[in-house]
Amino acid sequence: MVSRVIPVEPFDLVIFGGTGDLARRKILPGLYRRFQAGQMTDDSRIIGAARGELSDEAFRNLVAEAIAEFLPKTQQDPAAIADFLKRLQYVAVDAQGENGWPQLKALVRDDVVQAFYFSVAPALFGDLASRLTAHGIAGPQARVVVEKPFGRDLATAKALNATLAQHFAESQIYRIDHYLGKETVQNLMAVRFANILFEPLWKSEYVDHVQITVAETVSVEGRGAYYDTSGAMRDMVQNHLMQLLCLIAMEPPYHFDPNAVRDEKLKVIRALDPVRPEDIVRGQYVGLKGQASYLEDAENKNSKTESYIALKLHISNWRWKGTPFYLRTGKRLRARASEIAITFREPPHSIFDDAEGWRENVLVIRLQPDEGMNLKVMIKEPGPGGMRLTQVPLDMSFADALGEAAQDVPDAYERLIMDVIRGNQTLFMRGDEVEAAWAWADPIIEGWERRGERPQPYDPGSSGPEDALMLMHRDGRRWREIR
Ligand code: NAD
Repeated sequence: MVSRVIPVEPFDLVIFGGTGDLARRKILPGLYRRFQAGQMTDDSRIIGAARGELSDEAFRNLVAEAIAEFLPKTQQDPAAIADFLKRLQYVAVDAQGENGWPQLKALVRDDVVQAFYFSVAPALFGDLASRLTAHGIAGPQARVVVEKPFGRDLATAKALNATLAQHFAESQIYRIDHYLGKETVQNLMAVRFANILFEPLWKSEYVDHVQITVAETVSVEGRGAYYDTSGAMRDMVQNHLMQLLCLIAMEPPYHFDPNAVRDEKLKVIRALDPVRPEDIVRGQYVGLKGQASYLEDAENKNSKTESYIALKLHISNWRWKGTPFYLRTGKRLRARASEIAITFREPPHSIFDDAEGWRENVLVIRLQPDEGMNLKVMIKEPGPGGMRLTQVPLDMSFADALGEAAQDVPDAYERLIMDVIRGNQTLFMRGDEVEAAWAWADPIIEGWERRGERPQPYDPGSSGPEDALMLMHRDGRRWREIR
């Protein structure tokens, strides 16, 4: 199967923070990939805009180096790279001063799609938005893309939304959550809503529980000081895990339309029950075998910030009453693995004697590594010897099913930037969604801050603190192994 590439309309994309880490690692290599795939028309342009003085040539060299560093050799085609670099320009702009804005205005065309990517600290979003409009650079159809973190609580998220709203309509604002750009995450919607098989079972009557795991092996080294002001709840749960939860739990939208999808996601967040303190386990990795502890990485020996969190959530609506959702995420864990596992209930009655062989049906949606889905079903153990049961995976690994097309699956950033150019907001968070997620998270965070709770220690390379295992055990359930 070969994936189809449909070129997007001609565009001018301005990347504020075009020399920064995110631009070099993800945005610019991703744009090259789309150019190489033929999705970007010849007359589209990318304009790097950042504080440092650089010539176009120096910016192109920086981008060439980023492509060489962050893309596999097999994706680097020297002729295509040279061609791509011709589409790049650079302008030195100060978000907080007047420097560079007239030059930017002279560069940005108003007869093509205009997109402005704010890949800078959120404190600068307001400055950028106001100068873009004050200098008459952004037209009425212009799109702005904003990076995370979108606030650190409800008040700051509201303030950020209000600032952006002074200059742009909601239909122009694209809040990135790169988890939504992952192939499997979108496939989750296709599997749910393009098949008759799963949806009738997609409710508490048939689903025992859901587990969402985002496990990382990396520490917070290098960004410890920043991370320490945030923690796993703010950095991962309020946004990425919450978005995954919404896609699993939402009702079918009436149409695959940006606002219809986001309306349904919003209803899920609003239906979340407050979380009881005993249903939350926070952890901090300790030092082991010469490797630094969280406290050392964060350079704060008194830190109470969590590098791990596990929570049990309940959604109070007809569909999900009685089905717990267990979420966990952390740093320095055993393996880098992100997955959603939907565990179904026991059949109401077993006609087989081999009760021991029975295992629950589980649908596993794997986001990384090896994106794909896997449905565990019971079959008869092959061979003679009576009716013994065994469980086998029905493997829907994309690599096998889609062949070459799977090798070429665009990275989340590539897909999302192309969606911005197409003007499709389905995979971007709406302002009210972000606010609802903070409104849910704020009292939880305030609770542990008020109680002065310290996270529990856990060993690096483990699957988190002991108490997180207990969170499941006491319900007679177990976490899936992190691997
Ligand atoms: P960075 O510090 O590496 O780069 C910041 C960029 O902003 C530089 O290009 C710098 O020149 C520019 N800049 C700073 N002040 C400016 C000013 N006054 N006027 C104009 N330009 C200015 O940061 P980053 O890691 O690339 O992160 C950018 C944004 O993306 C942040 O909001 C961050 O939270 C978010 N983000 C980053 C990552 C990542 O992996 N790096 C991941 C997710 C989200």
